[in-house]
Amino acid sequence: MSYLFPTYAKWEVAPNSAKGTYLIDETGKQYLDFTSGIGVCNLGHQPQEVKDEVLKQLDKFWHVSNLFQINQQETAAKILATAANLDAVFFANSGAEANEAAIKLARKATGKSKIITFEKSFHGRTFATMAATGQDKIKQGFGTMLETFVYVPYNDITSLEQAMDENVAAVMLEVIQGEGGINVGNEEFLHEVEKLCKKFQALLIIDEIQTGVGRTGKPFAFQHFGLDPDIITVAKGLGSGFPIGAMVGKAYLKEFFGPGSHGSTFGGNPVAIAAAIATMNKIFDKEFLEEINQKSQAFTEELENSLQQLPIVKEIKGLGFMIGIDIQGDIPTLLAELREEGLLVLSAGESVIRLLPPLTASIEELKEGINLIAKVLQKHSLTAI
Ligand SMILES: *Cc1c(COP(=O)(O)O)cnc(C)c1O
Repeated sequence: MSYLFPTYAKWEVAPNSAKGTYLIDETGKQYLDFTSGIGVCNLGHQPQEVKDEVLKQLDKFWHVSNLFQINQQETAAKILATAANLDAVFFANSGAEANEAAIKLARKATGKSKIITFEKSFHGRTFATMAATGQDKIKQGFGTMLETFVYVPYNDITSLEQAMDENVAAVMLEVIQGEGGINVGNEEFLHEVEKLCKKFQALLIIDEIQTGVGRTGKPFAFQHFGLDPDIITVAKGLGSGFPIGAMVGKAYLKEFFGPGSHGSTFGGNPVAIAAAIATMNKIFDKEFLEEINQKSQAFTEELENSLQQLPIVKEIKGLGFMIGIDIQGDIPTLLAELREEGLLVLSAGESVIRLLPPLTASIEELKEGINLIAKVLQKHSLTAI
């Protein structure tokens, strides 16, 4: 009997310890971890530079209310805002909370309430972010949704043009849809979104919760496309596993989030902030980002070379170390067989195997992972014929 609500379709793996790209379970079995949590442990498990800063903060103080001057928050906010070319940060504890802040701020700043999101998007599980999410399965059984959101097919300019009007407060999107199946935004489409936002005085909100903090080889994925968002939201990779989320916005938005307008007891917790500062200092370094780009390019090429000819592989897609393998086959079965072989990977959408290896994975570890994927997919390609 479990005393947990059964909200997760749990795997059979019970972790005992984890370091770098490896995780060891309670039976002593070792796994190569290409999940990084879900794009959380971007520097691998227990990165030393993060651990050092967290331990230092644990010896200073753990928590004070946000009524205090928390200088560590100022340091973290400056690093984060500068990397995004934005100006102001609100710290929360999770992705959904960061999106909640963005939704509230966009409505307050524009005085409008309609927000456009996209089919197959994922923005979280709270009442507003569930409604923002463009997937029916996430909303089933929860009754009527907030009427704020209108859903448009992703990468479809014409549909967006039809949905836009003066009542739109914001358009919110992922430049690569993560949970929805690693769907990469089309450059022309993304620029059109930005243009339409400007035309109708709507805010452009980019949800970088999965794509952000180096995952795609730039600090934030929107930077691959040269976009100019009003707000971005960040969480997963920000604290290397310590819970932290952030909403980052342009300077003119500050006046709409004055004292009493929004808040969080735990948001910007000093220990999580220490983890975030160390994580960002490592990842936002130019040389580190360049290394991610080279390694991820080699990884994707090798993945294509070893998998593309297999009949069950339909497409390999993604950017940087956010990769989807679109498969004709039963994904849960494939994931279980990969775990048996000692490789942890995720699913996304209906038919995609999602790879989010740590950005610090070595070439050898990445090759080992490809070999295991090729082995399992080859076996299934044979049975498919
Ligand atoms: C994971 C995720 C969220 C939700 O983050 P939580 O921390 O689970 O609340 C929101 N948006 C995107 C794109 C995500 O990948």
